[in-house]
Amino acid sequence: MSASPAEVPFSAVETGRDELLRLMDLQRRAFGSQPMPSYEVRVDRLNRLRVALLANREKLIAAINDDFGGRSRLETEFAEIMMPLENIRYLKKHIKKWMKPQRRRVGLLMASTSAKIHFQPLGVTGIVAPWNFPVYLAVQPLSYALAAGNRVMLKLSEITPRTSEATRAMLAEAFSDDEVVAVTGGVETAKQFVDLPFDHLLFTGSTAVGRQVMKAAANNLTPVTLELGGKSPVIIGPEADVEMAAERICFGKSLNSGQICLAPDYLFCPADKVDQLERAIRQQFAKMYPHLAGNPEHTCIINKQHKRRLEAWIEDAKEKGARVEVVNPAGQELGECRMALHLVFGVTDEMKIMQEEIFGPLLPVMTYRDLGETIAYVNSHPRPLALYLFDHDKRNIRRILSQTHSGGACVNDTIFHIAIHDMPFGGVGSSGMGAYQGREGFLTFSHAKGVLSRPRLNFAKAIYPPRSKLADLMLRFFAR
Ligand code: NAD
Repeated sequence: MSASPAEVPFSAVETGRDELLRLMDLQRRAFGSQPMPSYEVRVDRLNRLRVALLANREKLIAAINDDFGGRSRLETEFAEIMMPLENIRYLKKHIKKWMKPQRRRVGLLMASTSAKIHFQPLGVTGIVAPWNFPVYLAVQPLSYALAAGNRVMLKLSEITPRTSEATRAMLAEAFSDDEVVAVTGGVETAKQFVDLPFDHLLFTGSTAVGRQVMKAAANNLTPVTLELGGKSPVIIGPEADVEMAAERICFGKSLNSGQICLAPDYLFCPADKVDQLERAIRQQFAKMYPHLAGNPEHTCIINKQHKRRLEAWIEDAKEKGARVEVVNPAGQELGECRMALHLVFGVTDEMKIMQEEIFGPLLPVMTYRDLGETIAYVNSHPRPLALYLFDHDKRNIRRILSQTHSGGACVNDTIFHIAIHDMPFGGVGSSGMGAYQGREGFLTFSHAKGVLSRPRLNFAKAIYPPRSKLADLMLRFFAR
């Protein structure tokens, strides 16, 4: 039986600064003794991660379920277990090729030299993970850092203490502390962690905390990848199949009960199709979740504090004139931690729900008459992590994709772009900077060192002083 999150005592063990420094020193020395791990070493580390995930599968699923007070097993198995395993397979297939130095053109002026890019591991890297996919968002960046040959320290979330402890123990069994080490702790530990002089720091979390992380990293000139959140819009275009869109939006919004950085945050619908859309969403939601209370495939809200925040935003929207429609197919009493889908019509920018990332099962629906209105709205707000467009007209699709900015986008779908391992995943503007996944993930955790090699033959001598006729000739030829 799962515990209610409200009963979970704060149990994350804090990790002090001295211990963090000791672990960093341990990793730094180990990296110094093996600064360029071979392909075989990297594959061995990835294999150990794979075996650890498989061996701890049930423990992790149970811990996540307990931390959420009810987390859909299907969601956990797909997102936290299958996706990282799939990704490890993808990495093993590609890292040999990615590790090879890359030849670059030298041009006529530098003839006789050769230029190559060497991809070097950065050293000791840090990863900070959030609570919403507590295993996936720790091991996915970890696998890229390992593929690129780094040592890794992770700080896991205090909001999911059981999962963080299970993940820490799993990694401690699979790796020595000087290869990979995970620490637990609350905000104080997190602050000390991001203060460490990492060679790279990847942070996944909120935009507000991301700002503080970047400030702390700046003191050490530590480069950061910030995987943040934001309000990801859905645009139902004039030529959309509304029924199909409703099904795919329902899935994207209900996964983890909307507690996903990539969840559709708000929606634009043509004014004359909004009734059809509401009906279709109700139907699709009822098909996926005929009942909510006691449904093991429906995920709970992580804790009381988040539930209260969401409820307060509904009240705020109502007070300011919104119409709220609750989608609770069996009309059940939902208790402490479960929450039905709420469609919110007639929203304005004065409402809380339109000012901050929702991160829960509330879906504001706005209407428009001209597609240009949706583009103008998106462009007048912070750049989102994702944009979802439903339409079957190529011109509409091209227009939206080229005239808006977002970290990623899906055409006629939601969320699934994150499942393409070969594509970079990251935000833009206030939804983040940098990316991982795909070759870009390997590059994030590598230094691309440009190396010039010159043979005995040296054409560059022509420009050594004293000035020669050949130098004048070169200037006439190249400086034009
Ligand atoms: P959060 O920012 O509160 O916490 C994330 C991590 O940062 C935790 O490990 C926490 O201990 C640590 N932290 C807290 N305060 C800190 C500080 N002052 N300095 C350094 N570290 C600190 O985020 P959360 O509530 O755990 O997760 C939800 C947020 O994460 C949402 O905004 C969501 O959009 C975002 N998110 C983004 C992605 C992505 O890939 N872009 C994925 C998942 C979640």
